[in-house]
Amino acid sequence: MKIDVPSTEPDRRRQSLPVLPHDASPLRDRHARRVTYLRVSLTDRCNYRCAYCMPAEGWGISPKADLLSESELVELVTIFIGQGVRRVRLTGGEPLVRRGVVTLVERLASLRGLDELVMTTNGHLLPEFALPLKASGLSGLNVSLDSLSAERFRRLTRGGDLDVVLSGLRAADAAGFRGTKLNAVVVRGENDDELPELCEFAWREGYLPRFIELMPIGRLDFATQAHVVGTNEMLARVRERYHLLPDGDVCGGTPRGPARYWTVGEGKWAGRRLGFISPMSDDGFCASCNRARLTSHGGFRPCLGSDDEVSLRDALRGGATREALLDLVRGAVAGKRAAHNMHDDAGTPRDAMTGIGG
Ligand code: SAM
Ligand code: SF4
Repeated sequence: MKIDVPSTEPDRRRQSLPVLPHDASPLRDRHARRVTYLRVSLTDRCNYRCAYCMPAEGWGISPKADLLSESELVELVTIFIGQGVRRVRLTGGEPLVRRGVVTLVERLASLRGLDELVMTTNGHLLPEFALPLKASGLSGLNVSLDSLSAERFRRLTRGGDLDVVLSGLRAADAAGFRGTKLNAVVVRGENDDELPELCEFAWREGYLPRFIELMPIGRLDFATQAHVVGTNEMLARVRERYHLLPDGDVCGGTPRGPARYWTVGEGKWAGRRLGFISPMSDDGFCASCNRARLTSHGGFRPCLGSDDEVSLRDALRGGATREALLDLVRGAVAGKRAAHNMHDDAGTPRDAMTGIGG
């Protein structure tokens, strides 16, 4: 499945913005956090239907014209870089089903001031895309892999093909991607007994395993408390097998997004690392949040756990000046809540993870 999106000519005036150092970023909220990391949903479509992310029938299809065009995306990312954003993650939906994704990556990777352009993918199309993505300047990959059992994988993803994803990982290695992270959403009764196997697969192959707590985004029937496994329980399961030492939230010496890392202290796997992403159980999860999201429809969202957003697409298409766009962004950042409220039904986002950009 390929998605056509409108393409418009870039506005060169907006592409030559000065680049600010990230510690001078004006994208600072009332809780002294700065936005330096933008996650961009390239499309709300997907070739999988993971049970924790979508209903079985999908979310319905947005008209192509609702999506940001390639030039609009480049223009908006350029503006964010000018405001101190240093890291951009392309996600979705499945970013690789967007038509023209390689050209888009090439354009984004060449923007001055961006330290890292990375992607989160389900891996299904990596056999085809790994090499062109690497050649276009993509610096890293996170691949979702919830199970090493073909049957479980098919059930959780509602039709996903484990063998194809494993070939995608090999294609990524061959293309030169290093330090690929493998992300698993841990779901009670589905894959919560598989953490050591997923770790050892990742360590053997040179990947970094990470385990994510299930979030109730999109208010899916599947995302009930009964399916949630908290990080303490995950840790206890892993600790039955390995002696773990805390590593903090750094990866290679620099602060890295939302994960907390641990290192195996002794034995065959000594020195190997794993991470946990704990939005539901870590009370301090939001305290150091440096992230914001650009949805597939061009909405700017300062918090994944809230439907608050401003439409940069509408402003852009309405002819807004750069200053007017920045006012919208700064206003939204200033209003970023101190912490998400996903423990409360009323506080969980109604909108789909796919459009927001997981
Ligand atoms: N399609 C790509 C993929 O699956 O990697 C990128 C988009 S997906 C929405 C991004 C990440 O969000 C994936 O790692 C996925 O497992 C995670 N995710 C989706 N729904 C989730 C949920 N309800 N709770 C926690 N993580 C979720
Ligand atoms: Fe698609 Fe990723 Fe959501 Fe799974 S988690 S349905 S692969 S967007």
